[in-house]
Amino acid sequence: MIEIKSEREIALIEESGRVVRLVLEEIKKAARPGATTESLNKRVEELIKDFKARPAFKGYRGFPKSICTSINEQVVHGIPGKRTLEPGDILSIDVGVVKNGYFADAAITIEIGDSVSGKAKALIKATRESLEAGIKEAVEGNRLFDISHAVQKYVETRGYSIVRDFVGHGIGKKMHEDPEIPNFGKPGTGARLKKGMVLAIEPMVNEGGYEIEILEDKWTAVTRDRSLSAHFEHTICVTSGAPKILT
Ligand code: MG
Repeated sequence: MIEIKSEREIALIEESGRVVRLVLEEIKKAARPGATTESLNKRVEELIKDFKARPAFKGYRGFPKSICTSINEQVVHGIPGKRTLEPGDILSIDVGVVKNGYFADAAITIEIGDSVSGKAKALIKATRESLEAGIKEAVEGNRLFDISHAVQKYVETRGYSIVRDFVGHGIGKKMHEDPEIPNFGKPGTGARLKKGMVLAIEPMVNEGGYEIEILEDKWTAVTRDRSLSAHFEHTICVTSGAPKILT
């Protein structure tokens, strides 16, 4: 069942979303060549504490850290550690926060240093724009898979592929609520979207094939062909007009 959130609940999710956004902005600055992914995780933990919020990922099904850091061919769920960011890397950072009992979740992919390749830049841009294309469809009266289809079409017409194994989700009192939001699907199908639904939409886009593998750490997802991958996510609210971005 897809919950409809009250105005009050939406305001609380938006407050958590504000923390997510500010954390991501800070981490963007800290993610420079030579920084370890663990140093970013530490910084996020400090910031989230300062905002009197709690990291949503830490301990989630045993995930050991407060953010996911996924580099280059890593798709999602990379675990922060000793690895150092190199010039030319692309880094996906996924942050979830819970404050006053309500969750918000967002992700960005950024360039490390000034030497990121043109093809990596293009992948990042297409992924960000595919999220925008999906969000545009999150309008009252549309169907759920209108979002999915818009993302898929945007990605595939540009020669990239969309990851099948992970999906977006409803969000609110829990990090993962109904519905699942695949980034591929048939337009005009799926649940009818209603005002007050809060959704985390999150395309993961691969330069090569859409297949992924999970590394031995049981978390890090990588592209099977080791091509580059990018990830963007926003938590949004369906309204009777334009969707409201809460992160
Ligand atoms: Mg998510």
